[in-house]
Amino acid sequence: MGSVLFTNVRIIDGSGAEPYIGEVLIQGNRIQRLTRGGRSQPATGATVIDAAGATLMPGMVEAHTHFSWNDAATLMEIQLMPLEEHVLWAASVAERYLKAGWTSCVGAACAKPRLDVVIRNAINEGLIPGPRYLAASQEITVAGALGDETLPHIPWPEFSFGVVVSGPEEMRKAVRMFLKYGVDQIKLNLSGDNFVPGARADTTWMTDEEVAIAVKETHMRGKRLSAHARSCASIKQAVRHGIEVIYHASFTDEEALDMLEATKDKHFVAPGIAILYAMLNEAEAWGITRKKATEMGYEIEWAAACESLRKMHKRGIRVLPGGDYGFAFTPHCQNARDLEFFVKYLGFTPMEALLSATKYGAQVMMKGDELGQIKEGYLADLLLVDGDPLTNLAILREPTRMLAVMKDGVFHKQPEIRAARSRFGLSAA
Ligand SMILES: [Zn+2]
Repeated sequence: MGSVLFTNVRIIDGSGAEPYIGEVLIQGNRIQRLTRGGRSQPATGATVIDAAGATLMPGMVEAHTHFSWNDAATLMEIQLMPLEEHVLWAASVAERYLKAGWTSCVGAACAKPRLDVVIRNAINEGLIPGPRYLAASQEITVAGALGDETLPHIPWPEFSFGVVVSGPEEMRKAVRMFLKYGVDQIKLNLSGDNFVPGARADTTWMTDEEVAIAVKETHMRGKRLSAHARSCASIKQAVRHGIEVIYHASFTDEEALDMLEATKDKHFVAPGIAILYAMLNEAEAWGITRKKATEMGYEIEWAAACESLRKMHKRGIRVLPGGDYGFAFTPHCQNARDLEFFVKYLGFTPMEALLSATKYGAQVMMKGDELGQIKEGYLADLLLVDGDPLTNLAILREPTRMLAVMKDGVFHKQPEIRAARSRFGLSAA
């Protein structure tokens, strides 16, 4: 592998330090040298990228990704996509995420049993381009809860969105099946969701016996779990059982916050708040008016989630971006919008929002000591961005501002330096 020297870059290194001008030398797939200040001699044979002051930052991590969501407005429409088309779809979405600057993604459930595993393996084998990826299971759920979507005239279980279990032994069987397939993370639907008429977001569905057996089987094999947990009781259940990744976490009380804080080094919260916002404010084209969304419970959940997540952030609980992009009203690759929402509604500074996508994102990827920062020896997942994300986070979701994307030392979006130069009013070196 060759080497690449980024020179004349404004570095946001992902440590929390203020940005500085400097140079970064990549050798193979690692960051070899990081220097502050002006031009120094490049390593012999390095490709020199003069970035004319553009921002170099660590690649972003999406903590709650669904490659198989296919821009539909309902779970059933996602599920009815035939398998062959679905594989190609998920592969194309994976590539789009990478090019949009998401160099790592955590799978939060897929729509068919082996879909995520197959995509992850294909990425790792170099068959298709995509981010570093942790593959999820389908959603495991119980009768009547989120994920138990079956069409009345197609009652066969393989057409349900999630895997529906009843009792510890069926749970064990489902979990073992997904572990056999090779998932990195088992997904349990502990709470309801306002998407589902009979199972609102503040309701809780699984017994402790079912959750316990899932956790036991998964941890025994060194794998991790995530939970769809919107209700207060389901958040506590997730913490009690040691489920590492908690999705949504909308409704809390003091006890839930205390529990989360007490084991905050263990847990990650990825709320996916964009979908709450979109359902309330932007889903009218799909028949969900503000009035309807409010009746569905989204106004109450939005207010509760903002309050809960603000408090979590204050208590130092890791709240990460990502979640439920891939529906009609939350298009794929707009995921960086979460960072804007974190600042606007959850009390983050722009730097804290960036760290949630980089330094802390690396931790949810289980690579906190070698990913998510521009630091000597770390993996070379880097973004070259036209402009300053700290003054305008919205540029992170504009394709034209993403000048280059490097993953593992390889460009997946080639640098468009000439464009950057003219925008910065500088002449070519
Ligand atoms: Zn989700």
